[in-house]
Amino acid sequence: MSYYEFSFVVAPDASDAFTRLLVDRGCLGVYEHAPHLVAYFPDSIGIDAIRHRIDDALAALKESGLPGDVTYEHVYLSERDWNETWKKKFQPIDVGKTLAIVPPWETSPAGRTAIIVDPGMAFGTGHHETTRFCLATIERLAGQTAHGRFCDIGTGTGILAIAARKLGYAEAVGVDIDPLAIDAARRNVILNELDNVTIHEGSVEKTTGQYDLVAANLLSEILKSLAPQIVARMKPDGLALLSGIMAGQEDEVIETFTALGTTVIEKLVDGRWVSLVIRR
Ligand code: SAM
Repeated sequence: MSYYEFSFVVAPDASDAFTRLLVDRGCLGVYEHAPHLVAYFPDSIGIDAIRHRIDDALAALKESGLPGDVTYEHVYLSERDWNETWKKKFQPIDVGKTLAIVPPWETSPAGRTAIIVDPGMAFGTGHHETTRFCLATIERLAGQTAHGRFCDIGTGTGILAIAARKLGYAEAVGVDIDPLAIDAARRNVILNELDNVTIHEGSVEKTTGQYDLVAANLLSEILKSLAPQIVARMKPDGLALLSGIMAGQEDEVIETFTALGTTVIEKLVDGRWVSLVIRR
């Protein structure tokens, strides 16, 4: 497959939110290369439709009150260019106290547990703060709570499920509605040579039973709409990590989840993103 690479100039304050808006509109990967935000779309969408989606993201950005003055240009990348581009840009990153996200073509840093991630075409390369933040939180919670069953709703590259298994969870399940994410996640499970990690195409309905920890790095609206199903998947006394909430939207998410009988035990703010740890 070939891709379009878009280079945006976005106000620093708006960069996180704009990234998220692009990902929600079919963008496959974004990284910051100051002063640019570089984003990739598959050419199968068609350049006119991509422009339309970008316009829509810009309108949503302005509506949210963030600086909406964005300029951009784009280039077409053949499949070969794409692979080369990713290889250059995607370098190992240390996360939390013990983890490192490592692309398959790099060597794992000594003394850290490597989460091998071939970015493929899915969200979850560790280049987004919310992914790194979820990883660090899962690492911390794994040391404090029972780690039997872990579930990741919206698994992207499978990164959180893979990390959970490496951090000691006996079983990890990831689901995603995007077939490209499913392909990437399954490939990454194999690259990490893990058993007991299963990846299903679909959403919460594809998970079974209850879990010690449910992770969901999704936007607030999606979290709210999936709330009853997410809570039903938490063991009594089990935890959920809700992430991807833009600052200012957390109260609505808290209200929805507390009405379902859960308690917020941690509220973590990382720049413009908020994450919640809730207990059932
Ligand atoms: N878990 C990864 C991480 O933390 O980096 C990826 C998170 S990414 C922000 C959100 C993912 O959720 C995307 O791969 C998207 O396809 C998926 N998604 C969006 N809505 C969903 C839904 N209703 N059910 C399951 N997955 C969904």
